Amino acid sequence: MINQQYKDMLSAKSVIRELSEYATARGKEIGYENVFDFSLGNPSVEVPQEFTDEMIRLLQEEDTMTLHGYTPSLGNPLFKEKIAESLNERFGMNYGPEHIFPTTGAAGAISHAVRAVTKPGDEVIAFAPFFPEYRPYINGAGLELSLVPADFTSFQINFDKFEEMISEKTAAVLINTPNNPSGIAYSTETLQKLAAILAAKSKEFGHTIFLLSDEPYREIVFKGADAPYVSKFYDHTLSCYSFSKSLSLPGERIGYVAVNPACEGAEFIVPMCGQISRGTGHNCPPSIIQQAVAKVCGMTADLSVYETNMNIIYDTLVELGFTVVKPGGTFYIMPKALEESSVEFCKKAKDYDLIFVPADGFGAPGYFRMAYCIDTEKVERAMVKLREFVEKEYRK
Ligand code: PLP
Repeated sequence: MINQQYKDMLSAKSVIRELSEYATARGKEIGYENVFDFSLGNPSVEVPQEFTDEMIRLLQEEDTMTLHGYTPSLGNPLFKEKIAESLNERFGMNYGPEHIFPTTGAAGAISHAVRAVTKPGDEVIAFAPFFPEYRPYINGAGLELSLVPADFTSFQINFDKFEEMISEKTAAVLINTPNNPSGIAYSTETLQKLAAILAAKSKEFGHTIFLLSDEPYREIVFKGADAPYVSKFYDHTLSCYSFSKSLSLPGERIGYVAVNPACEGAEFIVPMCGQISRGTGHNCPPSIIQQAVAKVCGMTADLSVYETNMNIIYDTLVELGFTVVKPGGTFYIMPKALEESSVEFCKKAKDYDLIFVPADGFGAPGYFRMAYCIDTEKVERAMVKLREFVEKEYRK
């Protein structure tokens, strides 16, 4: 019998994908350089040359059987060792290779991490604004996703609502900092407060509430932002990382779960992820990619353009009278629309070839997201269009 759950998902087409397809089609009509496509979070900077060189070296020099053979089910030992070393050096942690599980991006990391610390029927809490793919990640594991409404003044955590919602059913809490779609990084104060609540509630309910930290934008942090390493604050943390954005490798599907060595079950969680892989048929990311990333895991692509773009966009938005919180990282910004319906606002913007995404699906109705992983020259031209759009449509 056809699985109705997945069939029903076909009718809920991704708004982002639809907009991006529209932008491509429009580009064919008027030239893609004239379409200001802020829809997709696809990195726009080159992969570091060191990664490409290492891929070439591996292909030219390594024994093909080792290079292309099965990796151990818990991952390539060198990859695990290098990741642990790099995290320890940068964040003062004490991971060993046994705490690192390679995955296909952050998506694979979250899907493994959440299954390791919950059972079907449990509740996972996440915070708006949030990445909409959390629904399939969480529901696909047979779990219930509960969303804490946003704190619209700062886009940090709405603690009053969180404390009302957390209950005995809560097995894990999923956060994303720096955040897609708001661009906001959770501050030291926010993470301290979150950790204190999780510790108190774990005690009250008699079971550990795990923290899943989704951090694909960890390396894209802007000057002056307070964006600390999440696992430092709470022992029972599983960090879900991806090289999709930091090394511009989204198509290679490479990331990992890093289990805090002091986490409950730390000695079992990575081996358990290996068992979860057996059930989902995921297995490890390709052997060659693990080997190449092992060589460059401490570096990033040149990410500076994202901050340049953010400053140009933020200044223009403020000058035009938008309500907007300045991002601390990522390549997203989420201003308030100039009318109640962000869907209507984004529809009107399309007439000016400005492609923005209504943030309703991210849990922030009335706001819209701009993904500014595009060339700065195009951002500058887009700001001229944005000014024209606002003046003609809202300042008549
Ligand atoms: N989490 C967030 C917040 C994201 O923005 C993304 C991708 O855009 C992912 C997870 C998935 O990352 P990956 O493509 O590395 O699986």
